[in-house]
Amino acid sequence: MADIGFIGLGNMGGPMAKNLVAAGHRVKGFDLVPAALEAAAAAGIETVGTIAGAAGGVSVVITMLPAGAHVREVYQGDDGVIASADAGSLLIDSSTIDVASARAVEAAAAEAGLAMLDAPVSGGVAGAEGGSLTFMVGGSADAFERGRPFFEVMGRTVVHAGGPGNGQAAKVCNNMILGISMIGVAEAFILAEKLGLEAQKLFDISSKASGSCWAMLNHNPVPGLVETSAANRDYKPGFAAAMMHKDLKLSQEAAAQAGVATPLGAQATALYTMFVNAGNAGLDYSAIIKMIRGK
Ligand code: NAD
Repeated sequence: MADIGFIGLGNMGGPMAKNLVAAGHRVKGFDLVPAALEAAAAAGIETVGTIAGAAGGVSVVITMLPAGAHVREVYQGDDGVIASADAGSLLIDSSTIDVASARAVEAAAAEAGLAMLDAPVSGGVAGAEGGSLTFMVGGSADAFERGRPFFEVMGRTVVHAGGPGNGQAAKVCNNMILGISMIGVAEAFILAEKLGLEAQKLFDISSKASGSCWAMLNHNPVPGLVETSAANRDYKPGFAAAMMHKDLKLSQEAAAQAGVATPLGAQATALYTMFVNAGNAGLDYSAIIKMIRGK
């Protein structure tokens, strides 16, 4: 059993840290928000008042923060994780952030002699609570093997995606496919409706044909076709449009930095920007079908 420091005890980090405690690890936790600390204390996490208090005296530090700027500050700031971690400890950032920040922070950790992994997740709050997240992990093979037992407590599927930043690269590439394909599915079902083709008939045909895809089969934007779809619950997330928007923007940052044209990724980003700006950030991302319908 390990001593773990956990920084960022929000919607995802709170239940992830709780699962580590339930598995017998000793977890010291820090967050800026008092309510997050109170919930963590109730779940058996030893709460501390500073980043240094969570990052020192442990063998593993895990962070689950909103965005790249927070990760850079928490790791590289004065009395941050890199300055405070014990020699030989393993650093794991599970936040979804831009690839460039992930690589910069991992390089700074390496310069200080610390092994670090970027390990973003998919599976949402339900996956965090149920310990069934998917981890996409970037970093050295050695660091990955050291992190594996902790990922296996918090998640079900764990994939080593390659060197530093490759976990984030996998996350943005995957979610760019998902965003584009959700829009494609929504367009096809609206077109079918206008052509007088029942949604159930299109589903019965396309779900077994070449148009099939994960978004259609699991998050179908039309109510009544797929049990797991947020469409059946008034588009209550699920995976919020705000999160899809964030991940699409990260894909476009990465594409610009890599000098790659992703015209459909750019279109999907623009459509989700419109959808979120119209006040729909808190709806499931599949609700974009409403905008495509013209509502
Ligand atoms: P959240 O806002 O609920 O939690 C983030 C926590 O970090 C907050 O409690 C905040 O107070 C804390 N924090 C921010 N700056 C800090 C600092 N300097 N020191 C200590 N704590 C600090 O967000 P979340 O939903 O838990 O998401 C966390 C990450 O996971 C994000 O990068 C998000 O994109 C990613 N993610 C979220 C989901 C989801 O469904 N919520 C799914 C997959 C990935």
